[in-house]
Amino acid sequence: MRCLCSCFVLFFLNFFMPKFEMFPFLQPLSRELYNFDPELFLLPSFRKAISENTKESFRRIISEPFPGVLVFQMFQPDFIQKLIVEVENIGKWVHETNFPIRRPYHMSKYGVAFVDFGLDIMLQQLMEEFLFPICKVFFPEECGAMFDSHHGYYIENGEDRDPPLGYHLDDSEITLNVCVRKQFEGGEISFIGTRCLRHKRTDVKPEEVFHYCHSPGQAILHRGRHRHGPRANTPSCSRANMILCCRNSLFREMEKYEKDFPEWCNECAHEKKEKESQSLDAKRKGMIRIATGGKA
Ligand SMILES: [Zn+2]
Repeated sequence: MRCLCSCFVLFFLNFFMPKFEMFPFLQPLSRELYNFDPELFLLPSFRKAISENTKESFRRIISEPFPGVLVFQMFQPDFIQKLIVEVENIGKWVHETNFPIRRPYHMSKYGVAFVDFGLDIMLQQLMEEFLFPICKVFFPEECGAMFDSHHGYYIENGEDRDPPLGYHLDDSEITLNVCVRKQFEGGEISFIGTRCLRHKRTDVKPEEVFHYCHSPGQAILHRGRHRHGPRANTPSCSRANMILCCRNSLFREMEKYEKDFPEWCNECAHEKKEKESQSLDAKRKGMIRIATGGKA
């Protein structure tokens, strides 16, 4: 019964209270985190590249160690430190009050969904003004004219935290994954091929495998449809990540009616090549038959 009452309270707060006042007894430690201030949050080199807004300026700060995996530094160290302390404060409050907050995904017991605590406001601005220009250049098909929704959360993996998710696709067109804290070696992310929904469970080809060692402060930007997860056979380490799933509902809608093979799906690209080579083969055989008077 208590659980039902708490759920009702959460439902009520969610729909009828301004985000800042959803948890009136939770005192934010760093109020500046709740209003986006690019100078306070972002590195000058990152802001400069975005303001120039050219492929060359992005290339100056972004490396692409594997196709479709962009790596860069974007946040001021102080922002990351404040975020860690803020989320720890939220976690402590949740633990002490036993308040049933929503978790970022169904298997998570420790993650914090930013939307419930007002921290998503800064993420929205970050997505629109700073990530979208990069995505427009590197992932034009997925981001289209705009991202129209997002889901931001903080997740901790480790011995007494959530176990890492296995290989998965994200519920996003583009995902920003920022390593905010990491202890001990290991815990590499493996990327194992980009897939459309139809092909999400197909086998991995050796040339699609890419392992990346994510270090604190680093941001990775990749397609939500780029399958990824913790590298198999390596000890999992203790780490915390901030995830921002950027969504474009038009891309999703169009995908339902897509008859062609999307080029970004490795399996579709492979099928398309196979079909083209089969049809060329058939044409070649037909021509040989005509040339030899039907004897081939
Ligand atoms: Zn496909």
